[in-house]
Amino acid sequence: MTAQILDGKLTADQLRSEIATEVELWCVAGNPAPTLAAVLIGDDPASQVYVRNKEKACDKVGMHSRLIRRPAATTTSELLALLSQLNSDLTVNGILVQLPLPTQIDAQKVLDAVSPLKDVDAFSPENVGLLVQGRPRFLPCTPHGVMQVLARYGHTVAGKHVVVVGRSDIVGKPLANMLLQRDIGLGREYANATVTVCHSQSGNLAAITRGADILVAAVGRPHLITAEMVKLGAIVIDVGINRVDDKLVGDVDFDAVAKVASAITPVPGGIGPLTIAMLLRNTLMAAKLQANSFD
Ligand code: NAD
Repeated sequence: MTAQILDGKLTADQLRSEIATEVELWCVAGNPAPTLAAVLIGDDPASQVYVRNKEKACDKVGMHSRLIRRPAATTTSELLALLSQLNSDLTVNGILVQLPLPTQIDAQKVLDAVSPLKDVDAFSPENVGLLVQGRPRFLPCTPHGVMQVLARYGHTVAGKHVVVVGRSDIVGKPLANMLLQRDIGLGREYANATVTVCHSQSGNLAAITRGADILVAAVGRPHLITAEMVKLGAIVIDVGINRVDDKLVGDVDFDAVAKVASAITPVPGGIGPLTIAMLLRNTLMAAKLQANSFD
């Protein structure tokens, strides 16, 4: 079997072009361009690259971005004061705090302090709660990217057994939550899955993954998922991003698994490009929500 390659870069390009059109319509109607404020603490090189990519992506779709940098020694209360300013700044629609934060900062307190209406990463307890209840405000970016790839290639999930490996608050848990809802806005066929979540303490991982119609790996371990762990004809989504010998690889042994799976995402060029596209979509949605709530 030769697997279909699910091209995340292409999907992200389509999404960005749709978002750019929506932003243009929004601005032509007399609204200011949606604005994303990115808060960067310290000078971690990878975080600087991520933030720069987010700024460039905003620019390309006609949105504004504002980078707010603070030194690595910033305290939790200083960061909370900054967030309080951004929360009440009517010219800021979305706020993202680039992770990881320096260890002296209470990251949970900081993420909790972002206004739920500006929480474009969907990390706040209110937005997580709304998703769990099946009435999401913002869909979390990376899991939403996974759903968009499946939806745009017509791979429905309703009634299928989806196994998610990884239970993080950023990928595994919110993705599992999205999959098992009745409808998250993509149509009922892109929800209503039967979901199993595996993690570092799961016994006999291979026996569980072999039962998956759709297998999602979000762990951060190169080549964790081997061909023997995949059912013939399964769809395999690799969220992992790992650097091995200066090359990016996912969590899936791509070459071997591509011979067993019916469809697979590559790394790089799979889910990675979609995360920023979904962040842009949330920022536009935030601008619209705030315009309504301040009417
Ligand atoms: P995390 O470290 O927070 O969580 C990893 C999860 O994997 C944990 O729940 C843990 O229980 C589980 N795990 C660890 N070892 C395991 C094992 N042997 N078997 C089964 N489960 C195991 O990581 P995260 O933030 O969810 O990220 C996961 C991967 O996805 C990383 O490689 C990260 O770089 C990548 N990522 C990619 C994007 C993107 O844009 N594509 C976004 C976020 C994360």
